Amino acid sequence: MTEYDVHPDCMKDIERVLFSPEQIQTRIAELGAQISQEYEGKSLLLIGVLRGVIFFISDLMRAIRIPIEVDFMSVSSYSADSRDLGFVRLVKDLELSITDRHVLFVEDIIDTGLTLNYLLRTLKTRNPASLEVCVLFNKDKRRLIDLPLRYKGFDIPDYYVVGYGLDYREKYRNMPFVGLLKADVIHNEME
Ligand code: 5GP
Repeated sequence: MTEYDVHPDCMKDIERVLFSPEQIQTRIAELGAQISQEYEGKSLLLIGVLRGVIFFISDLMRAIRIPIEVDFMSVSSYSADSRDLGFVRLVKDLELSITDRHVLFVEDIIDTGLTLNYLLRTLKTRNPASLEVCVLFNKDKRRLIDLPLRYKGFDIPDYYVVGYGLDYREKYRNMPFVGLLKADVIHNEME
């Protein structure tokens, strides 16, 4: 694991790398090409939820070659340490109107689907022309709600992953790869 330019204090917590930066970029290029083709002639608005999505959405934007706009929302679970079922608080709303717009909701990772379900329901009430989802990592083992995922990067097992924007207690977001945290680093999180 020395091939990555990552500080030893971060690297020591990583069990193994699941996706290299190259694997991630290759898949994003494919997604960008597909999106560019399928939305050709339409005015597309990408929406991301801060903060985990920052790397994915900025790379995806550059892989899309049709004109797009982008906007962000921010949410928080009621508890900082456990994701209480479906209770999501909108901390920052969109600045752009999505009414009559073609909207692509960009997500870093979906697990139970509760967060995304809440956000999609909220966005649908604003009457977009269309609303689709593009997710980089899909974990469907613990899925509680069936959600239509139009664009999907990778299916992954029920691991807690970090890096490429994804955190564990706000750390590890800046690692260039996506990796599995060592079991002894995680306390209580996924119980
Ligand atoms: P869901 O509501 O689908 O269960 O969870 C969605 C949110 O939980 C994601 O947006 C992300 O913030 C967090 N999450 C779920 N699985 C993981 C994971 O493996 N790693 C990280 N860093 N966050 C995760």
